[in-house]
Amino acid sequence: MKNLPLPQHINMLRLSEHAANFHGSLLIKDMQRLAPSLYSDEGAVIVDLSLGTDEEGTRFCRVQLKTDVILQCQRCMEPFTYGIMSDFLHGMVSSEREAEALATHYEPVIVQDGMLIVQDMIEDELILKMPIVPMHPDLECKVKLPVVDASWAKEGEDGQGPFKVLKLLKPETK
Ligand SMILES: [Zn+2]
Repeated sequence: MKNLPLPQHINMLRLSEHAANFHGSLLIKDMQRLAPSLYSDEGAVIVDLSLGTDEEGTRFCRVQLKTDVILQCQRCMEPFTYGIMSDFLHGMVSSEREAEALATHYEPVIVQDGMLIVQDMIEDELILKMPIVPMHPDLECKVKLPVVDASWAKEGEDGQGPFKVLKLLKPETK
């Protein structure tokens, strides 16, 4: 099947009968909600998008995306490249009730008036894939981790730790 250029909007109602494949890229600098998590907004997201209708009549949208974003390491404060790949399957519904009835392999998306805004969907997925605390892998970071001294953690086991103290504070009453 021929790939069509990635559109800005997809009218799911009109495409529901026919399968279609799209391919294209979106600029990261156009994604204003994602931008605050990034060190730099350079780069682009490569997107493959397929639409179709399954045997039960569910309109679906499969998205495969790939990008490299520039994040700031929260340990050494230097920028680093973070690769994101994702492959997800959305089932299009028009209400919460329809979402509950959807087959479990779909992530429900409530589409207003059948219109799907492609960039919003891609940006949502990238935001979900951002690390909670961006950091270099340990060996690549300029800041070396201190060697962990585990001896303090053992104290609780031999009765000298905080639980022993609690017992002393609260003697058994008889
Ligand atoms: Zn670092």
